[in-house]
Amino acid sequence: MTAQRIDGKALAARLQETVAARTAGLGATQGLRPGLAVVLVGSDPASQVYVRSKRRRTAEAGMQSFAHELPEDTGEAALLELIARLNTDPAVHGVLVQLPLPAHIDPMRVLAAIDPAKDVDGFHVVNAGRLATGQPGLVPCTPLGCMMLLRERHADLSGLHAVVLGRSNIVGKPMAQLLLAENCTVTVVHSRSRDLPMLCRQADILVAAVGRPELVRGDWIRPGATVIDVGINRVVRPDGTARLIGDVAFDEAAAVAGAITPVPGGVGPMTIACLLANTLIASCRQAGLPDPD
Ligand code: NDP
Repeated sequence: MTAQRIDGKALAARLQETVAARTAGLGATQGLRPGLAVVLVGSDPASQVYVRSKRRRTAEAGMQSFAHELPEDTGEAALLELIARLNTDPAVHGVLVQLPLPAHIDPMRVLAAIDPAKDVDGFHVVNAGRLATGQPGLVPCTPLGCMMLLRERHADLSGLHAVVLGRSNIVGKPMAQLLLAENCTVTVVHSRSRDLPMLCRQADILVAAVGRPELVRGDWIRPGATVIDVGINRVVRPDGTARLIGDVAFDEAAAVAGAITPVPGGVGPMTIACLLANTLIASCRQAGLPDPD
């Protein structure tokens, strides 16, 4: 391996410490305790793991955690009613509805019901629009975490060619907007793009968010490039045990790249740390205070 390994676990721990310190400061100076409500509908095992870990980390940061677990057969109207209540609850500064929702509920209608000021996932169209037009809003946690990881390697991204593999609303598109805001030249690549390897080889910065295990091979990477692997793919070994791998073939890529994030231990830990950072920002704004530094 020649590439620098960008340690998301360590960076996330530092961010969480900073958020916890600012949270304690808010309590001491303003009597304000940030609160995050996490809503889970149904019993998808992966969602249960994510939600539990979000709640634990919220409490560890000194914030108030509100848990709402609804049965699988909850109607859309009941969920919208809960969101309306959370929107007006002054103890709740952030509202997160864990995705995916059961098939009978329209996720777009649910996300649109969250008060944009409390939309700590940054998925509301108002926040997406603010990001696209360069106005302050709440930025989706995973791309925000990717930008922090990139800054570990690049003080200035200006003029670099960034290739974003994937165009989802929650990762690819906001990632492209953030890179554009940092003056990168941005190419967004997706399942209909032609000649993926050629497009990826142009990248000074390659962000892979496709959900295809080890799609990106070593010879797709320009020597010295920075590779951010967002993918989380659970694969089962021949002996029946499971492990997580990324969208990038790590060993091959690490032999060519200048820097790379591992899976696990790269983007994943940053996502929850950024959720807490967003909750802190949302709390300050709702209290009429400046954003925390
Ligand atoms: P989506 O499935 O919503 O989007 C995948 C994107 O990749 C789509 O734009 C799709 O193109 C594109 N794509 C799929 N297959 C190919 C292919 N063979 N060639 C080129 N493009 C392809 O996924 P998400 O954005 O939600 O997530 C992506 C990955 O990131 C997943 O592994 C997910 O688990 C992980 N993830 C990790 C997080 C973390 O905290 N680390 C958080 C969120 C996601 P098209 O639009 O044309 O269909």
